[in-house]
Amino acid sequence: MNTQQKPNLLDFDLKTLESYFEKLDEKSFRAQQLLKWIYQRGVIDIELMTNFSTSLRSFLKENTLIKLPEIISEKKSEDGTKKWLIKVDEKNSIETVFIPENDRGTLCISTQVGCALDCKFCSTAKQGFNRNLTTSEIIGQVWVANKMLGHFKSGKRIITNIVFMGMGEPLLNYNNVIKTINLLTNDHAFGLSKRRVTVSTSGIIPGIDRLKEDNKVSLAISLHASNDELRSTIVPINRSYPIADLLSSCKRYTEGKDDEPITIEYVMLKDINDSLKDAHNLVKCLHGIPSKVNLIPFNKFPGTYFSSSDTATINAFRDVLIKSGIFTITRKTRGDDIDAACGQLVGNFVAKSTKHQKNSMELN
Ligand code: SAH
Repeated sequence: MNTQQKPNLLDFDLKTLESYFEKLDEKSFRAQQLLKWIYQRGVIDIELMTNFSTSLRSFLKENTLIKLPEIISEKKSEDGTKKWLIKVDEKNSIETVFIPENDRGTLCISTQVGCALDCKFCSTAKQGFNRNLTTSEIIGQVWVANKMLGHFKSGKRIITNIVFMGMGEPLLNYNNVIKTINLLTNDHAFGLSKRRVTVSTSGIIPGIDRLKEDNKVSLAISLHASNDELRSTIVPINRSYPIADLLSSCKRYTEGKDDEPITIEYVMLKDINDSLKDAHNLVKCLHGIPSKVNLIPFNKFPGTYFSSSDTATINAFRDVLIKSGIFTITRKTRGDDIDAACGQLVGNFVAKSTKHQKNSMELN
């Protein structure tokens, strides 16, 4: 068989793996065993999977692959943040960031090579779009990061939280992202609680509704403006999914429950969206939506014409929200010295398109 056609076992979640084994006339619990080997023990050599029969091992070796993306360089920030450049094929590399904090370790993963959404303040957007990442390339970032951090050896959980805030729009690569989320939250695989997995989206409403049904993890919305005119300029996908509709989908997502609030991300752009009027307007928008706000100081990158609001302006903006009863924090900038902060990830690839992804409204 041509290697090209062999399935990569990292492209399956539990459900799809169970049907794969059933088709082979194997018991479906083989799927759980395989996930444990790969994601809990870090074993990717089929020969070492000793609870599989010799014949099953030979079959899997002959007919499948376990192929991981490859770390090609590591940068370490003064604050302990690590950024890896990860090769996904001969021409394309993406970036993954690990942010250690006292009580947690967060891995920020990418879902696409580039991004097609063209948000004006984002460095990834400037690079354009090349392709969606496969499930193996997305979950593979978590696997290789765990390996680098010594998790499989020590058994200690070092990555406690996953955020889909790297390169790309996760909800425009839905099928591969949902399988990744299933693996992250499945007890036979990485076994993280749903609250510790956060999907950040620029607001792809059909994807939000599907996520709610399929695997309701934490949701973050890149809002960045409280009126459609401004939001359509800086986050062009707003023309398809305007603020009121987007916030209705957030309300559906939380089902009105205050204990699972949506994170509203709001990048602070000097003289663009940072006035007190903007703050009051944001309060109005969020009325009735269980939410908390993360204000993100704008991270600069070469060629950008934006700059960050100053600290006094950010604090004044924050105070308006807090006084109105909205839980608000200013996100600490991490890894700025190695270009690992929000919106600074670029990878290494050649764009196929700098315009909207073909069929960008469809969920792949
Ligand atoms: N496409 C997804 C996830 C990637 S971006 C989304 O839009 O949510 C992750 C977060 O970083 C988003 O809130 C994004 O708007 C923000 N961001 C992008 N560029 C930034 C920059 N230069 N400075 C600060 N935050 C930025």
